[in-house]
Amino acid sequence: MNLVLIITSNEIDARNLKSALAEAKDGPFATECVTLLNKALALIEMGGIDVILLDVDLADSQGIRTFDTLYALSPQIPIMILCAEISEPLAIEAVERGAQGYLLKGHFASNLVPQYLRNIIQRKAVEESMSLVKARAEVTLNSISDAVIGTDMLGHVDYLNVAAERMTGWTKIDAIGHSIHEVMQIVDGETRESKENPIDSVLKFNKPIALSPGTILIHRLGGEMAIEDSASPIQDASGKNTGAVIVFHDTSVQNIMAAKMEHLAQHDFLTSLPNRRLLNDRIGQAISYAKRHETNLAALFLDLDNFKHINDSLGHEIGDKLLQSVAERLTSCVRGSDTVSRQGGDEFVVLVMFEQDIKDVALTCEKILTALTSPHFIDDQELHITTSLGISIYPDDGMDAESLIKNADTAMYHAKAKGRNNFQFFKYEMNVRAVERHMIETNLRRALGNNELILHYQPKVNLNTGVITGSEVLIRWMHPDWGMMSPLRFINIAEDSGLIIVIGNWVLNQACIQLKKWQEAGLDPGTVAVNISAVEFRHKDFVKGLSTILADTCLDPSCLQLEITETVLMRDAKVSNEILTQIKKMGVQLAVDDFGTGYSSLSYLNQFPIDVLKIDQSFVQEIVDNGYEGIIVSAVIAMGKSLNLKVVAEGIEEEVQLAFLLAQHCEEGQGYIFSRPLGAQQFAELLGTGISMPFNELDYSATVRV
Ligand code: C2E
Ligand code: MG
Ligand code: MG
Repeated sequence: MNLVLIITSNEIDARNLKSALAEAKDGPFATECVTLLNKALALIEMGGIDVILLDVDLADSQGIRTFDTLYALSPQIPIMILCAEISEPLAIEAVERGAQGYLLKGHFASNLVPQYLRNIIQRKAVEESMSLVKARAEVTLNSISDAVIGTDMLGHVDYLNVAAERMTGWTKIDAIGHSIHEVMQIVDGETRESKENPIDSVLKFNKPIALSPGTILIHRLGGEMAIEDSASPIQDASGKNTGAVIVFHDTSVQNIMAAKMEHLAQHDFLTSLPNRRLLNDRIGQAISYAKRHETNLAALFLDLDNFKHINDSLGHEIGDKLLQSVAERLTSCVRGSDTVSRQGGDEFVVLVMFEQDIKDVALTCEKILTALTSPHFIDDQELHITTSLGISIYPDDGMDAESLIKNADTAMYHAKAKGRNNFQFFKYEMNVRAVERHMIETNLRRALGNNELILHYQPKVNLNTGVITGSEVLIRWMHPDWGMMSPLRFINIAEDSGLIIVIGNWVLNQACIQLKKWQEAGLDPGTVAVNISAVEFRHKDFVKGLSTILADTCLDPSCLQLEITETVLMRDAKVSNEILTQIKKMGVQLAVDDFGTGYSSLSYLNQFPIDVLKIDQSFVQEIVDNGYEGIIVSAVIAMGKSLNLKVVAEGIEEEVQLAFLLAQHCEEGQGYIFSRPLGAQQFAELLGTGISMPFNELDYSATVRV
């Protein structure tokens, strides 16, 4: 039941109202009557009152002041003024100040009073819930990041949320009443021309509309912001248009993100250089340009020499930094209009435009080779690297990106084969080699599983006594179609493809097993020397793998010798020394292979824990009858002796060479003169029979000429 508070000092009025309300047709009202304002206020404080009937002239308060006091305390309770006709102006004043209406004295008994009160109560309830919805909407609109601007039917702003204030630079108070065009200035991002505000079309066509992309909002103070938006009409309850609202948000962040994504998709994350995808686009563009302007185009394919070793030995972090340093130097070697890109790994492609003279390309390549060779200082380390370059020219060597890159890659392999640190122009014949390399690699992958790899053993001989002191293990590949393949044809391919790790491990294991077998069979095979390639030697798991093999085969480590070439050891000698020391600790012997072909630092050689120097066969073979070329051999032998190393001469074919070596007191040798590399079975037989030739027939002490 609704409770009515009647405030009047007139008893008759109070009684009349009470009975009218108690007898109301559609249900009675409960009533409370008070004669003083103070009492009324106390009751209101207690709550539960739905409507107030007020005669303003009370004993403790008179006139409009009575209304004001009451209204200030409870603006949410509807107040009806009770007045005589004569005081109607006062009642009207109260209505202006917030009263719901007034009842004229003398009409209280009417049926209309309860009905009237019920209406007021209902209306107040609706109003209250509306204002709650409105407050909630206001809070929501002000807390979203989208800007919202409302206008009337003439396009005059009647609402702005906080985000809209921030983005336009207009405060709500300032903006209200101004045209939407003033408050929300928009232009086309590309043409800079003013754009029609979507509000205009919404008001014209009465349909929601989205703004075209590329719209820029101009801030009141001049700043700009890319926005995206949509506008809709606003209709009242009857469906009549009352205005429009536009909602928009800042897309700059989105644009930056989109641009960033685009950049990432087209650039290499490590060096920020264009990646393969962007390079292909650039080649496409460069080709169309070259066609139109009759210029030429060269694709340079670069692969760093021995980068893998740096990466494996010094770690990826250093490797990455080195690649970044290379990227910078490459960029500085070409013009801004040329493209330097990273293909992945240590491969780069440089796209160079040139006028006529192909010599310009050669000059650029020379510049690149020189730029990369000077030391790279990375994390307090001085790193040296060289590169091999292959060049293909548009249109001679390819009409599209794919064939240009492929042929430059082929030419690069030739540069590698020619000793690295050089550049080669593509020639048609090179393709044949490239195909061959590829075929060898694919076949080699299957070779181990198919038992196509075999080991031969070449004896090492004491030159004075002819006794076999050991052997060198040399790998062979028995290909079902191609026949016997020399390691010279496949070892470097195995290195480049990483296959050497598995193959090398297999060789080492097999050699140890074989040696153990011979020992157990009562033979004296001496030491077995295994060739270790650069990639294996620098591989992080090499030392571990070696100790596992020794443990598994139970071979006395001192029977095993590892041959590592001089060039490999001298490249990053400090790291080499660390690895050698670890190997040496296991009791394994160490030999420097192909000695004399690289550039040795004698101070390092002295520090390395090595046991043997193997003089490269090229020096031995230069010893001819006049003995002149033997100078290097003599020097190496003398040096080996002074460093307390055993010297082994490789590739002894001729008696004259043997005689020379003997005279120089070289202790050991290896070569066709004693024996070619043999299969395990044959080598075992040789161990039984011993070397017969040439000691039986020659008395070297007599034939030596120096
Ligand atoms: P290398 O370590 O210098 O091996 C000596 C090479 O000289 C062998 O060639 C051997 O057959 C050959 N040779 C021996 N005596 C004579 C001679 O009197 N005259 C001539 N002209 N040559 C002689 P091969 O077997 O073709 O091996 C070539 C290279 O392949 C080896 O050079 C070595 O660097 C590499 N290699 C061989 N087997 C392996 C292996 O298992 N692992 C690794 N990483 N490399 C290997
Ligand atoms: Mg060797
Ligand atoms: Mg050698």
